[in-house]
Amino acid sequence: MSGAIQVNGVSRVFGVKGGDVVALEQVDLTVAEGEFVSLIGPSGCGKSTLMRLVADLDQPTRGTIEVFGKTPSAARKNRDYGIAFQQAGLLPWKTVEANIQLPLKLHGVAAPARRARSAELLELVGLSDFAGHHPDQLSGGMQQRVAIARALAEQPKLLLMDEPFGALDEITRERMQTELTRICAETGAAVLFVTHSIPEAVYLSDRVVVMSPRPGRIVDIVDVATLGDSSDRTDAVREDEGFFHTVAQVRELLHGAPVTGARGVENR
Ligand code: ADP
Ligand code: MG
Repeated sequence: MSGAIQVNGVSRVFGVKGGDVVALEQVDLTVAEGEFVSLIGPSGCGKSTLMRLVADLDQPTRGTIEVFGKTPSAARKNRDYGIAFQQAGLLPWKTVEANIQLPLKLHGVAAPARRARSAELLELVGLSDFAGHHPDQLSGGMQQRVAIARALAEQPKLLLMDEPFGALDEITRERMQTELTRICAETGAAVLFVTHSIPEAVYLSDRVVVMSPRPGRIVDIVDVATLGDSSDRTDAVREDEGFFHTVAQVRELLHGAPVTGARGVENR
């Protein structure tokens, strides 16, 4: 069983003027198929670096990474994953529909099939009425939903999301979280998700990976199984006692304080 992502003993050292920057040190992590895993940690702890390594946008200094049992490069060529980062990254001169169809077009999918797929995705992210709009005619949350639809265009079994909701206001953000949970339930995709928000990580995830300041290492992994499967959570979970408890637990790990009465914490 190879799972969706397997990171083995990965370090990434950047050679810069005045010495080396150790962005990641000895990171081991697995993400199972269909599992939702969040990375949380202080700014500069290597979250984006890890994401970029998995996405084949950078190479580890040491260690190996497998995506569905393949090298990240083979997985990229096989279009095994979709990417959504903090900036929606839409092409402003293209319509919403054309933005969503872009990866399909690049890979030679014929126009009728592209249209059918983008209609389906627009429905999924609740933007059917905006197919012909341009990105600057949409709110930040709507643009981010278009970016997610585009990431899903090729039906990837894995989504790599680096602070995708970072630029959104709190209300829109919670809506997007609920939306993402629903999309994951419908598509069965695994997700590796970077966020600065503890409640966001806890609400969305099966497991929350807490990272330390540079050099980025995994401090602990908090199992959120007490809140049920990540793909069938409802907004009610946010009021749950177990939710508050897990949020507190992650917060303590981030601040380096000992956790007392830890429930559902596992060292892996
Ligand atoms: P995070 O996403 O957790 O905020 P990053 O992964 O972006 O952190 O960065 C981790 C560390 O690696 C930072 O100290 C950053 O300055 C450094 N770093 C990232 N990319 C490069 C690069 N291309 N060259 C040099 N240093 C880098
Ligand atoms: Mg980052």
